[in-house]
Parts: sequence; structure tokens; C-alpha cells
Amino acid sequence: QVAADMALVDADFVAGRLPKRSRFAHKGTFGHALLLVGSRGKVGAGVLAARACLHGGVGLLTLAVPAAGYGVVQTAVPEAMCLPDDCKTHLTQLPDLAAYAAVGMGPGIGQHDDTRAVLEELLCTAPTRNQPLVLDADALNLLGANRSLLDLLPPDSVLTPHPKEFERLTEPARDDYHRLDLLRDFARRYQCYVVLKGAYSCLAAPDGHLYFNTTGNPGLATGGTGDVLTGLLTALRADRRLPVLDAVLLGVYAHGRAADLAVVHTGEAGLTAGALPAYIGLALQELT
Ligand code: AMP
Ligand code: MG
Repeated sequence: QVAADMALVDADFVAGRLPKRSRFAHKGTFGHALLLVGSRGKVGAGVLAARACLHGGVGLLTLAVPAAGYGVVQTAVPEAMCLPDDCKTHLTQLPDLAAYAAVGMGPGIGQHDDTRAVLEELLCTAPTRNQPLVLDADALNLLGANRSLLDLLPPDSVLTPHPKEFERLTEPARDDYHRLDLLRDFARRYQCYVVLKGAYSCLAAPDGHLYFNTTGNPGLATGGTGDVLTGLLTALRADRRLPVLDAVLLGVYAHGRAADLAVVHTGEAGLTAGALPAYIGLALQELT
């Protein structure tokens, strides 16, 4: 028996939420996403997010990366367009957002003060354009270290902290129940969707409902799998056919399902974040 304001996210629960692709679909149908990713030594996180975004079905993808990441990204992700920052090592500039259906920020960006300023400008600019945001990793750590920025969070933003990142946004939890209370309070207060990641990731919605994901396996306990989730969620938020709750539920479910499909071939120990995006398309296809 699950409480009325909680749900278990299984195949039945996500069934019917992903519309079929129209035979007449074109890349404009699925939106143009922007990912702000990478810093010196962490450009790989951006590559992982980018690949997941593409395998998640985005129409077009642009990556904003520090200049040092330009060659890497153009080679590793030739499908994506690239806006190199003037700074070599970290993000210092917010691109013109006019073209984008959704914006993801965080994987590998580091916590330089210049990058905090970019995040702040993004939080101020995105709502005027009604642009969905997905924030993860160091974008969350920057929010945690500069809590006044939380009040700028546009409604319906999607945040994907693991427990340590969530603690930086809030406070240390006494136990798992307390952590869920903090999660629900945070989602209500800032009117955003928060995915507390881990086994049975818990999504808190702005109305205080909690959704526990059933897919995924311990093969995901390896570096970079969270960056894959960020890219996938950004793709689904760029798809304007999807209501925000459906986009987040589908993303979290399909990310875990992709891992369940992958480990058949790799084993749990052998699963790498880089292998995961290739299974996202199949995981999504099962749902249509
Ligand atoms: P991160 O900590 O940002 O790299 O994200 C890790 C990702 O892997 C999240 O999507 C977690 O939900 C997922 N994950 C990690 N460990 C497990 C596990 N034991 N079972 C299911 N999913 C997991
Ligand atoms: Mg992470």
C-alpha cells in the first residue's frame, strides 16, 4: 500500500506518457537544446550529457563549453553545434538563449565565481523566455554555496542532486525519512521538480507528491551516469509535446531502464556511463 501522495514509477505508471513520433516529424518537432557543460579536466562530463541528450531524441543540440573543450566536443559529439567560451578553462559567458527550447547546466562546470555569474544570469534570463531549465552537479553546488540564488529558480525547473548535493542545498538529514521531508519541502518552496538520485531515485513535484523510480541497477554506481541523466532530461524538456511531470518521470525511468538493458551485455561491473546513451533510444521506444 502506497500513500496517496506517493507513487511507484514502473512500466504501467509511465505507459502512455510518451507520444509516438509523427511520420511527418522533423528536427524542429523535438526542440533545440542548449547544454552548458565542462571545465578544465571535466569536459568528459559534457560529452556524456551531450550524447544522452542526442539519444534522448532532441531535434538539435548546442553545447557551450570552455575554449579548451572545443576540439574535444566537435570530435566526440559531431552531431552537436558548439559555442566555445572565450575562457579556456571554465564557463564565463551565457550565450543568447533565444534559439533554445530547453537549457541544461551543470555537468563538469566546476565552481569558479565566473561560472556562478553565468548561472545567476541564466536564472534571471530563462523565465522571461519561459525556458525550461535542468540543473545538476556543480550548478547545484553553486546554488548550495550561494543560497540567495535559490529564490531566482524559475518555476518548474528540474534539479537532479545526489544525496550529497542535496545536503549542500538544504541541511544534513537525520535519516532517510527526514531526507524525504526535506526533499518535499524544497520542491514545494521553490516550485521545482527535484530528483534525489540513488537506488529508487525519488522525484518530488512542486505539489509535494513523491514518485519512486523502480528501474536501474548497481551498474549505475559509476562516474558519469548522472551526467547522462542530465542530458536525457534536457532532451525531454526540449520536447514541447511533454508536460513537465511526464518529461521528468520518463527521463528518470528511461535512464534506469537503459541501464537494465545495458547490463545484459556488459554486466553490472562492466557498465560505463559512456555505454549508457546507446540504450536510451530502446528504453524510450519500449514506452511508445
Ligand atoms: P551521479 O551520482 O550524479 O553520478 O548520478 C548517479 C546516477 O546513477 C543517478 O541517476 C542514480 O539514480 C543512479 N544510481 C546510482 N546507484 C544506483 C543504484 N544502486 N541503483 C539504481 N540507480 C543508481
Ligand atoms: Mg553527478
